[in-house]
Amino acid sequence: MKEGIDHLGLWTWGGRVFNWQRYLDHMSRSGLDRVVLWHSKVPANARAILDYAHRLGIRVWWGFNWSWNSPVCLNREADAAEWRDKVLKIIDDEYAPLGPDGICFQVGGTEFGGACRLHCETCRKAAEEGVGPLFVKFAGHIIEAVRKAHPGLYLSAGVHLGGVHRSFESLKSLDPGVNIMWEDLPGPGRHIEVPFAYDWDPDESAVTPATLDMVERMCSLRGDAEDVAFVIKGFPCHWGGHDPMLLEEFDLKALAGVYQGKWDQAVRYCEKRLADALAVFRVIARSPARSKTVLLLVEHGLWEYRRYYPAMLIFEALRNPFREPGEVIAAAGGIETLQGEP
Ligand SMILES: [Zn+2]
Repeated sequence: MKEGIDHLGLWTWGGRVFNWQRYLDHMSRSGLDRVVLWHSKVPANARAILDYAHRLGIRVWWGFNWSWNSPVCLNREADAAEWRDKVLKIIDDEYAPLGPDGICFQVGGTEFGGACRLHCETCRKAAEEGVGPLFVKFAGHIIEAVRKAHPGLYLSAGVHLGGVHRSFESLKSLDPGVNIMWEDLPGPGRHIEVPFAYDWDPDESAVTPATLDMVERMCSLRGDAEDVAFVIKGFPCHWGGHDPMLLEEFDLKALAGVYQGKWDQAVRYCEKRLADALAVFRVIARSPARSKTVLLLVEHGLWEYRRYYPAMLIFEALRNPFREPGEVIAAAGGIETLQGEP
């Protein structure tokens, strides 16, 4: 069994990357090898992005909606069939010609639990008891068709733990060849405390043994063959956009100024929660899962402008979580080094 985390990277809405070359350069300089770029449709410059990323050893997983945030009944076969056909057409027409490294998707229900377009009883009950079984049924229908049409295409299922934790075990029946990307790990006041939720507060309570147990179960849900990914929140500067990725005359410095306050807040948060984060990362690093990936959600974060210290600190922690917080902070080089980058 190898100890450690295999792949590190970023998750972002592609339309909020203002200079994708610098973005990828900064990834490469930081030793990151995976990026999820989320769009409504393939960006016009996808080929160039992919080629550039590959030269830097970065794999691009293209993310798009498989009914996420759309009116859908997860229990209705016709809805699954409709989305199956939509998804197949988008992959056939737009992504397959690129030879994609991977496709990420999210279906409705796990983030906004129970929002059934028909307000049906099954979905209502699932919202209380966990939407896992409905998620597996609905997503499984589409996955089966995609894998038949595109064998070998890497798929990653974005799942929000908040929507499925009460029916967690049901996800065991999701195709083991499909990566599960755990998102929106619930934060304080919810069923499990994991550092780095959306709405964070550095003074909130610490990780508990139940947290670590849950993370361990996530890493071995489908046995030692598990291919697992986590999206660590806490760095969103703003919500995303579906626009193409840009390489234009944006004043990055002015844009970065708008969000500097968010990053400043994150410094204290990340340093204060570092011991909690390390405890969680150690569980991931020790797990026997076949493949382990951790991405930071840096939405609209101006990563192309600067490799911000809070994110660099967390990457440093992920690289070797078997250290004390002080050692990791020292190894991350301190805030001054990276703040001076541009
Ligand atoms: Zn329904």
